[in-house]
Amino acid sequence: MSTFDYDLFVIGGGSGGVRAARFAGARGARVALAENNLMGGTCVNVGCIPKKMYSYAAGYNAGFAESVGYGWQLPGTPTLDWDLLKVRRAEAIRNLNDIYERLMVGAQVRRLQGTGRIVDAHTVEVTAGHGAPRRYTADNILVCTGGRPWVPAFDGSELVVTSDDVFDLPVFPRRLVVVGGGYIASEFASIFQGMGADVTQLYRGEQILRGFDDEVRDFVAQEMRKHGVDIRTQAEVTRVQARGDARRVHLSDGNTLDADVVLYATGRCANTTGLGLDELGVQLSPRGTINVDENFATQVPSVYALGDVVGRRELTPVALTEAMVLVDHLLGPEPGRAARTISYENIATAVFTHPPVATVGLSESQARARFDAIRVFRSDFRPLQHTLSGSSERTLVKLVVDAASDRVVGLHMVGADAAEIVQGFAVAIQCGATKAQFDQTVPIHPTSAEEFVTLRQLTRN
Ligand code: FAD
Ligand code: NDP
Repeated sequence: MSTFDYDLFVIGGGSGGVRAARFAGARGARVALAENNLMGGTCVNVGCIPKKMYSYAAGYNAGFAESVGYGWQLPGTPTLDWDLLKVRRAEAIRNLNDIYERLMVGAQVRRLQGTGRIVDAHTVEVTAGHGAPRRYTADNILVCTGGRPWVPAFDGSELVVTSDDVFDLPVFPRRLVVVGGGYIASEFASIFQGMGADVTQLYRGEQILRGFDDEVRDFVAQEMRKHGVDIRTQAEVTRVQARGDARRVHLSDGNTLDADVVLYATGRCANTTGLGLDELGVQLSPRGTINVDENFATQVPSVYALGDVVGRRELTPVALTEAMVLVDHLLGPEPGRAARTISYENIATAVFTHPPVATVGLSESQARARFDAIRVFRSDFRPLQHTLSGSSERTLVKLVVDAASDRVVGLHMVGADAAEIVQGFAVAIQCGATKAQFDQTVPIHPTSAEEFVTLRQLTRN
């Protein structure tokens, strides 16, 4: 029996921390978890879940308009009750917080409310409010403190909001300026446009969603513009000025934009301050994330870290998988199972824009760099639904194939339900499916997804 209070002490009750604590606790380890905010972390409280709820809310707007093409008579113009949406979202999230609390109880995890700081390789100090800090010892310590929005320094930066604030804006913004071209900026640009705001998205580069397939980027930008988002590329903000309750955004080309709210979504930084990492000798990367090895160990052998705070891929399923890999590493694999591992290749991901983007594997340019020869198959079309809806929205499907092995190494979609569809295809890609196997698959008709298995015409080599 260990002389420590706990076998594992987890700092942070987000996606990664909860999963690690729960899995270790369920396997008989003595586990404590300190969280200084609401259980569930970013994803549950200010990330994936409320974001997707607001994305659904936004989606109804186009749905109402499109239903008219199907013969629906609308009694009047539907309007969004922003305050009601906020209340409904908050209730649902509170439920999730409770579920997460109960998961801890179910797994016999001691849940501590407060801020954790590592005192030495086996001791964590937890401070709650103005109370006296309490110390706990543990065989292993796991840092899962996630990240927070990062806003560059500029004149007026205190006048902008971030994704943490956007869910509870006191007044719905009629005019919204979004700065950034990544996941968060693009998603909220679509969401607020769908909910009825006039949205301008400002991106400093040539095309939004850097890192995604170039054709996908162009296509989604074009479709977002059709929905009404005013995407302006090569746009640099020089300062933001208050004009009463409104904001004036000054651009480097001398233009200005007036808005009710300016949302900055320019990336996130790891939560490492105040954790005692420096004193302990835990090294950080140049971008401020914690350096860990393949088993998520820091330089201090009993101190581990995973999830956004190590920043390999800032996605919830990545944090969850890393947590399960770590538990297997610490406790050994479950009886009858191999130890879990994580590969950062072929991680499917979606951007919940309107229309959404989903992708697994390599972009065309990544594949060109990796393989001697590739084959590209793509199709864009007006989905059947829009024959009657009147919407001009188009869908893009694209396959990137390694010519030598015939393996599909990249699969991309922009269009309704892209995330749901690509999730299924991700299994095939993970299994190394070939283009010939795609071609042998008898499709489900009529669907948009069937295009992936009926792409016969080579687009380019
Ligand atoms: P977190 O979930 O951030 O948890 C860290 C926890 O640690 C927090 O609860 C924090 O309060 C706590 N904490 C910090 N410091 C201390 C301390 N010293 N003591 C005690 N507690 C502490 N990912 C997806 O896969 N799909 C999506 O659709 C998606 N949408 C997103 C939308 C937005 C707006 C954002 C911001 C993120 C989104 N993500 C999405 C990313 C996803 O939320 C993160 O990758 C995920 O939450 C990371 O989990 P984590 O456990 O590493 O950190
Ligand atoms: P991203 O890294 O995706 O995007 C940041 C954006 O801000 C980029 O367009 C970047 O431009 C731009 N930017 C960076 N610095 C500046 C600056 N100084 N001035 C102007 N623009 C700047 O970060 P996000 O904040 O959007 O999201 C963080 C992470 O959270 C994502 O990477 C993703 O992993 C996760 N997430 C996942 C979601 C999902 O799964 N659906 C949804 C939301 C978040 P450039 O491209 O030129 O560098």
